[in-house]
Amino acid sequence: MTSIDSTSAPTPDEIHFRAATEVLVGGMSGAARENAALGRPMLAARGDGARIIAADGTEYLDFFTGFGATILGHNDPGVRAAIEQALDLGLVHGPETIHQSELARQLTQLVPCADLIRFANSGSEATMVALRAARAHTGRSKILKFEGHFHGLQEHVLYSTHPPARAPAPGALLEPTIDSAGIPQTFADLVVVAPWNDLAAAEHAFEQHDLAAVIMEPINYNAGCLVADGSYMQAVRDMATRHGTVLIYDEVLSGFRTGTDCAQGYCGVTPDMALLGKAVANGVPLAVIAGRREVMETFSPIGPTAHSGTYSGHLFGVLAALATLDRLSSPGFYDGPDGILARGAYFYDGLRDIFARRGICCRVQGLGPRFSLYFGLDPDIEVQVYQDIVGHDFAMLNRFVRACIDQRVYFHSYDIVVGHHGFSAAHGRAELAEALEKIDTACSRLGG
Ligand code: PMP
Repeated sequence: MTSIDSTSAPTPDEIHFRAATEVLVGGMSGAARENAALGRPMLAARGDGARIIAADGTEYLDFFTGFGATILGHNDPGVRAAIEQALDLGLVHGPETIHQSELARQLTQLVPCADLIRFANSGSEATMVALRAARAHTGRSKILKFEGHFHGLQEHVLYSTHPPARAPAPGALLEPTIDSAGIPQTFADLVVVAPWNDLAAAEHAFEQHDLAAVIMEPINYNAGCLVADGSYMQAVRDMATRHGTVLIYDEVLSGFRTGTDCAQGYCGVTPDMALLGKAVANGVPLAVIAGRREVMETFSPIGPTAHSGTYSGHLFGVLAALATLDRLSSPGFYDGPDGILARGAYFYDGLRDIFARRGICCRVQGLGPRFSLYFGLDPDIEVQVYQDIVGHDFAMLNRFVRACIDQRVYFHSYDIVVGHHGFSAAHGRAELAEALEKIDTACSRLGG
């Protein structure tokens, strides 16, 4: 894969992309596949370990890791064996097998809020179902969500995920901004939006609205990597308890980044429900709805709330998740000198050093194996609120991404939103060191 250069003859990738536009809307399977730095999706032939391999055999060190799904790396042998086992078992029969309850048992042992489990197939489906359960449990309709937090492409939450810059208004609630055409206004009437990490605003939301649920990313990776104050997390927990509102942590992206107890273990605050996806099955479509018994038992057949699906608990996802959890639970996966947390610290320090030496203004902020590059923001000041990143240097991000791709290091650039990057367990010290060297070369060609 090479960058687009309008002055030279089209590359084979560009020719393929143009042909794809004849049959796929915009030439892609989903809009986020476009790499904004290229103006089209990368064309990969396959992925293996820490690398994506192009049709001509060129290998790229991958710092996107399938939207954050492949925490063990591509083509992981354990996950591959699990998928083969699922093929042997016959995929979907209708009856339960022993494997769904085995996975549920393991999840209830690992994830603090999980008394009971249900399975779905995507994060968007999981957030939709969880909000339905919260509404059924409370008999209320409104939900509180936060500026810059993303909860999937579904009608109930597709608001204010990347709103424009606004004047500072500490303590104020915000007018929801709709992130898609085709959503009737009636949905917006049920959404209350507040700035995250602003306790007064959360208090106002609880006082002014009868909230069924408050949903948040407990680590806001969709705005790069924003971590809230621990006392804020606890205060929101206390408000939800006091008002009888269901506190939902959307851990589709944060789940299993910092430990097997997920972000709720990391911040030490337990929600009423949590949603897992992506990393839980290392890239095989599976989402988990986990929660307190009292809330989860609103689902049928115990309670009146609908949840099921042809593919709920599909064996591909369930067996892949069992294989993935086995690895995530192994000693030293997160902690210790070669754990994923230490590798992250090494890599982020390396990036900071490169940007400082090359005179590039960029704030590197990472937690576990996911991180953000905030170009144009002060390298020494922690970014804590969404509004701080609205003015990030998107053009510089795209120049950086293109220069890295030229050096065979793949970063993804979303359209306008700051996005997030990450590495996997297949990125050992050697791969990270190799990446740093190549990124340094890329930066040397960028200028300050
Ligand atoms: N919630 C969060 C926090 C996410 O990051 C995502 C996906 N980026 C989703 C929900 C939606 O998940 P999916 O793409 O599997 O529908």
